[in-house]
Amino acid sequence: MERFKKDVLNYHCTPVAGKIQVMPTKPCQTADDLSMAYTPGVALPVQEIAADPSTARLHTSRQNLVAVISNGTAILGLGNLGALASKPVMEGKGVLFKRFADVDVFDIELNTEDPKKLIDIVKIMEPTFGGVNLEDIKAPECFEIEETLIDICNIPVFHDDQHGTAIICAAGLVNALEITGKKAEEIKVVFNGAGAAGISCAKLFISLGVKYENLAMCDSRGVIYKGRAKGMNKYKEIFALDTDLRTLEDAMKGSDVFIGVSQKDVVTREMLLSMAKDPIVFAMANPDPEISYALATATRDDVIMATGRSDFPNQINNVLGFPYIFRGALDVGATKISEGMKLAAAKALAALAKEPVPQVVKDAYNGREFSFGKNYIVPKPFDPRVIEWESVAVAKAAIEEGLATNPIKDWDAYASSLRA
Ligand code: NAP
Ligand code: MG
Repeated sequence: MERFKKDVLNYHCTPVAGKIQVMPTKPCQTADDLSMAYTPGVALPVQEIAADPSTARLHTSRQNLVAVISNGTAILGLGNLGALASKPVMEGKGVLFKRFADVDVFDIELNTEDPKKLIDIVKIMEPTFGGVNLEDIKAPECFEIEETLIDICNIPVFHDDQHGTAIICAAGLVNALEITGKKAEEIKVVFNGAGAAGISCAKLFISLGVKYENLAMCDSRGVIYKGRAKGMNKYKEIFALDTDLRTLEDAMKGSDVFIGVSQKDVVTREMLLSMAKDPIVFAMANPDPEISYALATATRDDVIMATGRSDFPNQINNVLGFPYIFRGALDVGATKISEGMKLAAAKALAALAKEPVPQVVKDAYNGREFSFGKNYIVPKPFDPRVIEWESVAVAKAAIEEGLATNPIKDWDAYASSLRA
């Protein structure tokens, strides 16, 4: 552990401080270059854009630039440590955007906990960016901030802590249902955690066909039921059940699916035993799940188990989502990331997991074999096919929904540009 700590800090400090830098994409070696990059030449694209704002896409890097924005109120699972302390995470997000989908990022850490101020600042910055990734902003403020920004901005605004998890989780659910022969319309689902991740995930499950009346949402006070007064907000209210169930233990009995986005070790062996045949358990609290992989698989051999961890099968990890979703959205100039685009991303990931896994993926994981089934329900993060499958699906969904300002016409050329 000490060694790991040292390595991590060293990774951040050397050879230069931090994890990202700005690189020009045009030469600036001669007097001619200088007069084009800056004054007087730069006046020309200025006038073009002033006359037709859509040309900003051609003359600036805006269409490939995402703002990763945090106020540091919910950093990883560490809590509210403030804007400055969130910077390594936001820079890290920039690394992943670039590494997996060649999207550039400015990380912006804002020293405010006032949702209105944050909304105003992001809106004011709209001309700079092709999209906005909100990050590590605490619930329930994160809901209002994102909803308002989606409404008032003409570029995609996406709170990854909510929807990133939801999309990968939905992909996993689609495949777990197929493996167990269960149907979304019939399953009983228990959510533990009604925060950023839980609420968005539950909404996407409803879009997949899960029935409201079959979805029991729990938080730190137990089941969210109609008429409950304490610890409620309008986002939890949407899922309030007309029920006598009160505790997680009550809700788990006979359920088909458990989705944990809460805290470690809150699910016991007995609760798992009380679930229906072939239970699907996505225990995603980080770094330690609601029930450990070892305990869950030792308790029931019919369980399909996923966690947020890379050291067990079926890792539900946001990195399978945000880089590619923004890639597709930016490439068609989407004005938002709709529920339909999120579903398209989830379905593309689910479909890819059913394809034979090429050698290049096995090589990236020390020669391990992967084939569709209980221990492989979502693609691996280092699968180079993800970009093509997911970004194309998202771009197509944006066009179908009339959200694309720059529709793609040649899909073969687009797909091969993604592979390059
Ligand atoms: P959040 O917005 O703070 O929400 C946490 C929710 O969990 C709240 O509704 C809270 O209840 C509830 N909760 C806390 N302790 C609980 C308990 N003992 N029993 C039942 N519910 C409890 O956090 P978040 O962003 O949604 O993340 C939640 C967890 O999921 C974290 O551990 C995070 O690391 C993990 N996560 C994992 C992934 C992944 O990809 N693997 C992605 C996102 C999040 P109250 O509303 O009553 O306070
Ligand atoms: Mg986050």
